[in-house]
Amino acid sequence: MEKNEFAEWSRRAADWGVDYRAGLNEQPVRARTTPGDIARQIAAAPPLSGESMEMIFADFENIVMPGMTHWQHPRFFAYFPANAAPVSVIAEYLVSAIAAQCMLWQTSPAATELETKVLDWLRQAIGLPEGFCGVIQDSASSATLAAVLTMRERALSWNGNKAGLAANPAVRVYASTQVHTSIDRAIWVSGIGEQNLVRIPSSGPLKSMDVAALEAAILADKSAGLLPAGVIACTGGTSIGACDNIAEVARVARAHGLYVHVDAAWAGSAMICEEFRPLWAGVEQADSVVFNPHKWLGAQFDCSAHFIRNPTDLVKTLAIQPEYLKTHGRDGIVNYSEWSVPLGRRFRALKLWFLLRYHGLEGLRAVIRNHVRWSQGLAERLRKEPGFEIVTEPVLSLFSFRHTGSADRDGHNIALVNAINEDGRIYLTQTRVDGAIAIRFQAGSFEMTEADIGIAFEAITEIARRLSKPD
Ligand SMILES: *Cc1c(COP(=O)(O)O)cnc(C)c1O
Repeated sequence: MEKNEFAEWSRRAADWGVDYRAGLNEQPVRARTTPGDIARQIAAAPPLSGESMEMIFADFENIVMPGMTHWQHPRFFAYFPANAAPVSVIAEYLVSAIAAQCMLWQTSPAATELETKVLDWLRQAIGLPEGFCGVIQDSASSATLAAVLTMRERALSWNGNKAGLAANPAVRVYASTQVHTSIDRAIWVSGIGEQNLVRIPSSGPLKSMDVAALEAAILADKSAGLLPAGVIACTGGTSIGACDNIAEVARVARAHGLYVHVDAAWAGSAMICEEFRPLWAGVEQADSVVFNPHKWLGAQFDCSAHFIRNPTDLVKTLAIQPEYLKTHGRDGIVNYSEWSVPLGRRFRALKLWFLLRYHGLEGLRAVIRNHVRWSQGLAERLRKEPGFEIVTEPVLSLFSFRHTGSADRDGHNIALVNAINEDGRIYLTQTRVDGAIAIRFQAGSFEMTEADIGIAFEAITEIARRLSKPD
């Protein structure tokens, strides 16, 4: 592509992005397509000769965009947010133009050194003590995989990578019933095997892991000749925001020499506000912690912050140095590809640096505090509304509710969530709580205002009334 054309289309793409964001309020949140609608419009084979940017861009607008769900929409209340604050988008434009592979210090010293610095900014921001070192992973799933591999290697005296698992007693990992499926996958991929992921029951308002049951399970495994390796605790579980008692989990884990990893993928962003930190009290005793600035904090996906108390154990587990990756003659440098499973790494620190500087911690705290307050306000309004019940109380900005207008409770609430999403004003998802369907609500979009909560209340109550009407 010629320089002039590159310049023109870069400008058009940036302008398009600005208009797109500005117009989101008018769009239905979830894509209104049926399966195959988009695929049907895409050519079956690649073109032999090049096409014009005009044509390509027109197809992007006409074919692709109608099939997009708008994650930056102010009334995206489904799943968890994936906020990309405009300032982080700008940083990503630059990163995509530079397109460096930041696997080693020498393949882009600035990327490595900025990563070290901004992750230390983040460490301070969320109140983790000095001594924790940070690295940016592509996802919480990758961070958790790295943690599981580290706990496995530690338990196997650093011999698992070499000898495989067959020669060793079964490695055992413990987690509550509330943890994310990325934990199951890490257990599969690490070769530990699902039957060695011990599910500890959870209870109470925060569905916390039963610590006495954890200790009993560890003791039973030890006496059966198995190899307890680590515990994965959660702060802000995906379904309903479950929070383990990290201090108690760490106490038990420590007593038995086990590694503790904390998955706070969503809730970790809120820890920039001191008043929310009791939810993960004891976190300073963990061996590693992951949270996703790409969820609630506003850093364009992908950006997962992984903090490690003792990176030597992680590097011992994952580093591999063929001659072509060695950097001779430089001591004390960090090669972050030794801290993660993939070798290649994007330059992810720039968007965090831009984000933290542009908004400042107080700016980001104000956003998160509003979300929590507004979401809790909606829970109070729904609690008072006839026919509604709050199923799980708000944890930060996440709660679940259901409408009680029918004998077929699950069927009715699934129909309600579907009708709400077809309506388009807001977007919600469902979960199961103690076996029964509940509708999740989380507030987290950077573009949201309090008025959007009012629209959510109206959409939810109006559609529920309509569905309950006998026809
Ligand atoms: C979103 C989420 C994950 C997965 O995050 P990825 O970055 O997509 O891998 C893991 N755990 C919890 C609690 C989550 O909310």
